[in-house]
Amino acid sequence: MDAVAEQLDLPTLNAMFESSDPQKIVAWAAAQFGDDLVMTSSFGAESALLLHMATQALPAIRVIMIDTGYLFPETWQHMEALRRRLDLNVWVYRTRNDPIAWLRHAGEENPAWRKDVDACCAANKIEPMERAMKDLAPRAWLRGIRRNQAETRRSAPFIEPSRRYNCHAISPLLNWTGREIYGYMKKHELPYHPLYEKGYLSIGCNPLSCTRPVQAGEDPRSGRWSEADKVECGINLTNSLDSANL
Ligand code: SF4
Repeated sequence: MDAVAEQLDLPTLNAMFESSDPQKIVAWAAAQFGDDLVMTSSFGAESALLLHMATQALPAIRVIMIDTGYLFPETWQHMEALRRRLDLNVWVYRTRNDPIAWLRHAGEENPAWRKDVDACCAANKIEPMERAMKDLAPRAWLRGIRRNQAETRRSAPFIEPSRRYNCHAISPLLNWTGREIYGYMKKHELPYHPLYEKGYLSIGCNPLSCTRPVQAGEDPRSGRWSEADKVECGINLTNSLDSANL
């Protein structure tokens, strides 16, 4: 059955989820979709939280990690540490491009800076993500976006159809703030990404054009593509986050 056409009462579910704990939303998703539920993780700043919640509800959930070829070495260390700690079922989808050859081909002279972030994300991040979703063909997808991370995320619903990936996108953490995140991480003794304590509150690829430390009072996402008019890399764009309704 077409996952997007699945008969779910989204207005009622979204109204209910507004006052639900994220753990309950994750448990509902695991019961509703079972092995057809996947999650994505960047293994970034606070990624351990949703990985912990998801594996509590569905221990063997497939975790999609996108390897752009430009991740921080610390991200790989963090992924390995979490994989061991939570016994994660990680599916790494890699860019098809050689990282150095792609820079040369794209006319990017400085490996520490991207002149054209949209072209680089399209080739090295969005393509492997679309391939992953096509291969794994989930009915639903858990992701860790939060409303207070960026203006683009303020009106995201908890569950919405993604025509782009032919599944439902579920965002259990939407209403959580740093305080609740911290409380959960502390209670379960979960590790932050090694760069978190250096001011990196949202962590993607290593060029300075793509990830930089955040100053006090800034949105957590403001350290991403800070010189460009870009807040989303594109993999999270679903109906509510993209006016083009990808
Ligand atoms: S975040 Fe930066 S380095 Fe990573 S794929 Fe996008 S433009 Fe390329």
